[in-house]
Amino acid sequence: MRMTRLHAPTLKEAPKDAEVQSQKMLVRGGYIRKLAAGIYDFLPLANRVLRRIETIIREELDAAGAQEVRLPMVQPAEIWEESGRWGFYGPELLRLVDRKGGNFCLGPTHEEVIVELVRRDVRSWRALPLNLYQIQTKFRDEIRPRAGLMRGREFLMKDAYSFDVDDASALVTYDAMYQAYERIFARCGLDFRAVEADTGAIGGSRSHEFQVLADSGEDAIVSCDTCDYAANVEQAELPVPAAGGGPESAAVEVVATPGQRTIEEVSAFLGLPAERFIKTLVVTVDGRPYAVLVRGDHEANLLKVKRLLGAASVELATDAEVVAATGAPVGFAGPVGLKGVDGILADHAIAGLRDAATGANLADAHRIHVDAGRDFDARYADLRLAGDGDPCPRCDGRLRGFRGIEVGHVFFLGTKYSAPMRCNYLDEAGQERPMVMGCYGIGVSRIMAAAVEQNHDERGIVWPAAIAPYEVVILPLQMNKPEVVEAAEQLYADLARAGFDVLLDDRNERAGSKFIDAELIGIPYRIAIGARDLAEGNVEFKQRAGGDMERVALAEVTSRLQAARAERAR
Ligand code: ATP
Ligand code: MG
Repeated sequence: MRMTRLHAPTLKEAPKDAEVQSQKMLVRGGYIRKLAAGIYDFLPLANRVLRRIETIIREELDAAGAQEVRLPMVQPAEIWEESGRWGFYGPELLRLVDRKGGNFCLGPTHEEVIVELVRRDVRSWRALPLNLYQIQTKFRDEIRPRAGLMRGREFLMKDAYSFDVDDASALVTYDAMYQAYERIFARCGLDFRAVEADTGAIGGSRSHEFQVLADSGEDAIVSCDTCDYAANVEQAELPVPAAGGGPESAAVEVVATPGQRTIEEVSAFLGLPAERFIKTLVVTVDGRPYAVLVRGDHEANLLKVKRLLGAASVELATDAEVVAATGAPVGFAGPVGLKGVDGILADHAIAGLRDAATGANLADAHRIHVDAGRDFDARYADLRLAGDGDPCPRCDGRLRGFRGIEVGHVFFLGTKYSAPMRCNYLDEAGQERPMVMGCYGIGVSRIMAAAVEQNHDERGIVWPAAIAPYEVVILPLQMNKPEVVEAAEQLYADLARAGFDVLLDDRNERAGSKFIDAELIGIPYRIAIGARDLAEGNVEFKQRAGGDMERVALAEVTSRLQAARAERAR
């Protein structure tokens, strides 16, 4: 492709509202343009990147036995009512009404549509397992679209759905998809971790997220430095700590702590370290008040509370609810003598606490010399957030904290959709059974952003070769020198004939701006042709990912690039 023909309008400045590097660079590099909040145009360079990612996905999913389909984006409300999600999904589901008054939505995901398709035609165990996927535009009216392609409202997703005869068979499919995902993200050149993830309402089933490691990621994950345990912090388990305990403290005392509400404030005021505090959160569990206790230096994980109680919702109580439950203003809750809650739940680390401090359930006061067990009772469980430096739940190692961008998700669904929607088959004995499902998503456009987050420098994008829009860019440095232009044209033709995706910067621009744009756009190999080197039969060869600029004989450029390609394929 010639730059004079390519529609890649590069910009000097990033948009003012850009939050992350990928958004800045993809806009500046002429890859994307914003049409409306969370809704983007993909220009030719971006379209090429997406196509390369899609090709990798198709190759690996086809090899894993999945079949590609294309399902409608506009979905009738009836099937969503059948699954129970028309009411449940909330405002993220963009609903529309057609001219006859029929209710529809724009597909945020396709479980309902696929179940409707499969239950209609698949009746016998002989047709299973069946695994169908598509690569398609999704729409979710996200509360806060952000960071460009990372959280769009309209975005490109690969979604797959599997149907098996029973759990055992469905787990074999799950593992095959998990492995296909590992190959897909590795081939895309991403540094990622597969982490255990929350399974939401379907407790006890299996779910993994594939997280690209990047500081700008929205997710917090932990990964063991010794074994292969890795999990989203929402999910990460912690081992039960050693008993702790110690001699009984003096009797509990109430001390005045005027205006001191946060752990930091009270800790400084009383001269006690945060780990001697019992932090008391008032939460509402399906509408009922509970207290959750964690050590002052720990954070509560409300998803663990939700799972422990099998609740539909757990939320922090409002100020008014805190006052109702504790009889004190916000900031002074504590477990001693706490009457206004249905139960007190405490993290394991509280069990061994002696001589601790906590809120007194009185305005401007705390209690000291508090012993767990002696001064209050609680139900103990693993209730806190894991973090950097915590012990691994599987081995003697330590957990390390990372930020991640979720680019993929594999989920064992069981019969969550097949049971209510009666997606059944007849087994060998002629008995009707619900199919056992899995679902598997990949954020295709999010991968593009994640790849840039992970691969850029101050000058621009550094594409992993496997998903770059072009492999090589040729820069003729003096357009007024016929021999330079001619050599560039010849190399362009030769490389194209050798099967390379080549970009030729044939614009009548200064060498300086050609270098700047080439670095911004991020093509893996750059061949610069200048008159002085050319007189000796040489060109400048440079890899975008680093390494020095080399002088290479013009005649050897093609074989150099072929060797680099062979090296990558190994
Ligand atoms: P998130 O927690 O980020 O909202 P999700 O759990 O809603 O993700 P899934 O429903 O599992 O996501 O969707 C499958 C994949 O689609 C995700 O792993 C992610 O890569 C991608 N994805 C989800 N929402 C968006 C979005 N708003 N913009 C871009 N990609 C998205
Ligand atoms: Mg979401």
